[in-house]
Amino acid sequence: MPATPAWPPASTPRLFMDSPLAPMATPVVEGAAAHYLLNVMRMKPGDPILLFDNRSGEWLGTVAEAAKRALTIRIERQVRAIEAVPDLWLCFAPVKKARLDWIIEKATELGVARLQPVVTERTIVERVKRERIAAQIVEACEQCGRTALPELADPVKLPALLKHWPADRALLFADEAGGVAIADLDAPAPAAILTGPEGGFTDRERDALLSTAATRRLSLGPRILRAETAAIAAISLWMAQYGDWNGAPEPLR
Ligand code: SAM
Repeated sequence: MPATPAWPPASTPRLFMDSPLAPMATPVVEGAAAHYLLNVMRMKPGDPILLFDNRSGEWLGTVAEAAKRALTIRIERQVRAIEAVPDLWLCFAPVKKARLDWIIEKATELGVARLQPVVTERTIVERVKRERIAAQIVEACEQCGRTALPELADPVKLPALLKHWPADRALLFADEAGGVAIADLDAPAPAAILTGPEGGFTDRERDALLSTAATRRLSLGPRILRAETAAIAAISLWMAQYGDWNGAPEPLR
């Protein structure tokens, strides 16, 4: 007996819709997403599609109508509830563009709950393009199967971040000048990882960090890692120890 092919097929396109999804809803896909579905994925009426709204979870729909520049989707059923990602923040000093893209994409894939740009004394890149980062977050979520987008906070200067730091949240300060391995740090959720800019933290910043009660000095080994490598290594170590990396993805209903 041939096995019943999985439905929806694993190749089903997955799209974020910034509007509430519900049974029988008929959302319309337009713009770049419509161009991609119509002209790259060559979608036609009856084809399945997965949509998620960062509110309720993930829904299976079918293309009801495919016009020149828009598709109307008929929502069939909910296939996954919105996920609860581990309560880990990444606080990162913005770095040069391509490396910043990496940090955003990988931190989203790895499962952080919040992305917090932090302006430090040696931060070269003052202005972070919020729309660009928001688009990268959506793309990474569409690709990795996330149903909850990480929150993107507005940039903040390090002194202000420390002044208003929540006392119950461990601040894992990734310090190339020395610290403790994550396995020896007691830092379950709620937690945050802080990585510096290309030029690292100044001594004044290091003093301010080390005099903040929530700070835990984190070492990522004897070598000087690039900021994006440090961010990805620290998140991975934390997720493996305190996060949700011990379970398989929730299957579609
Ligand atoms: N200041 C350094 C230098 O001498 O050029 C480089 C800074 S490094 C490129 C950027 C950031 O990555 C650091 O501020 C720190 O947060 C993190 N980092 C790099 N290597 C690390 C290590 N071995 N342990 C902990 N954090 C590290």
